[in-house]
Amino acid sequence: MRIGAIQRFSLIDYPGKICAIVFTQGCNFRCPYCHNPELVNPQLFTETIPQEYLLNFLRTRQGKLDAVSITGGEPTLHLDLHQMIDQIKGLGYLVKLDTNGTNPEMLEFLIGNKLVDYLAMDIKAPLNRYEKVTGVKFNTALIRRSINIIKNSGVEYEFRSTLMEDLLTDVEILNMGELIGKANRFYLQNFVPHKTLDINYQKVKSLSPERLAHWSSILSKNILEFAVR
Ligand code: SF4
Repeated sequence: MRIGAIQRFSLIDYPGKICAIVFTQGCNFRCPYCHNPELVNPQLFTETIPQEYLLNFLRTRQGKLDAVSITGGEPTLHLDLHQMIDQIKGLGYLVKLDTNGTNPEMLEFLIGNKLVDYLAMDIKAPLNRYEKVTGVKFNTALIRRSINIIKNSGVEYEFRSTLMEDLLTDVEILNMGELIGKANRFYLQNFVPHKTLDINYQKVKSLSPERLAHWSSILSKNILEFAVR
């Protein structure tokens, strides 16, 4: 595992749980608005944190933290992810996994082996705009497959999207809603222009209140629990 950073405490990352956050290094997307360039651009990678350091830290927090949230970068790029999760769960923690949805096979494996308790998947765009928004060419059918796997997993989950002015049109937002379909939880995050992978995006605007309300009304239609973060 390439662990780039650890946040020792969070009250907001795992709904209803107190957790630590593990940030893995490396991502197969290049979303220009990404707020974690140091986990995406190899030139910005810092020295990795040994897994044993993480496990020792978690041993000292047993009974104080409920869970560990694993995010990135893209955690499912790491083929030994299941081994780290196994060790974390062995210490009695719940595990939340954040993913961009490009590795449905690993999601199936983790779900099938009861290694995840909460799944959070980013939905970047409707499928026909995915490559443009993420900056890479890939098989977008993987995204639909991951959505279906997560919805049918029986594991608690959320989908979430970060949106900004001029990224997508109203029609594309409609198509994005159709891609998600009926779902339990969907969180819309307004873009905040500060540290970004592409520095030009530091000048891009957050959604206006009007646009935010309009897109929320479209995206919330088939969602049991919808919120703007
Ligand atoms: S936003 Fe997420 S998926 Fe996109 S580049 Fe950053 S870490 Fe990767």
